[in-house]
Amino acid sequence: MKRFLSANDVLESIQFKDGTDNNLDSVHYLLTMVAIDMAAWFLSKGKVMTITDLISTLSEDVDLNRDSDAHRTKRGMDVRSSELREEEQYQFLEHFNDKYKDIASVSRSDNKARLVVLHGKGVNKHFHVALNFIYGDR
Ligand SMILES: [Zn+2]
Repeated sequence: MKRFLSANDVLESIQFKDGTDNNLDSVHYLLTMVAIDMAAWFLSKGKVMTITDLISTLSEDVDLNRDSDAHRTKRGMDVRSSELREEEQYQFLEHFNDKYKDIASVSRSDNKARLVVLHGKGVNKHFHVALNFIYGDR
């Protein structure tokens, strides 16, 4: 028996919310790489990662009041945060924001590179993950 997880093992663990385009093949490869790394992090906590939103259209972004084109340009995804305890959510943010700062989206508010942020309130709360705009499909 092998003593580690392969990329495929981890990929197969990723769940998608109903109705979400579940095709990671059509996003930037760095986003797929990040998704695998994040899903492995969830597995290390005994949990399964769920992607709740991936690629969007302009009209969906307008409806959702999104000011970023990360989903539209295939460099962004949303991940369910409620699987994690609050303390784990902060560990997740700290770990991935540090690890991927070189490829992360830069926040317009403070000019800091941040791969993942907690977005929304209550049941809409989720991790929004975005690569730098240079990786966008435009
Ligand atoms: Zn998002």
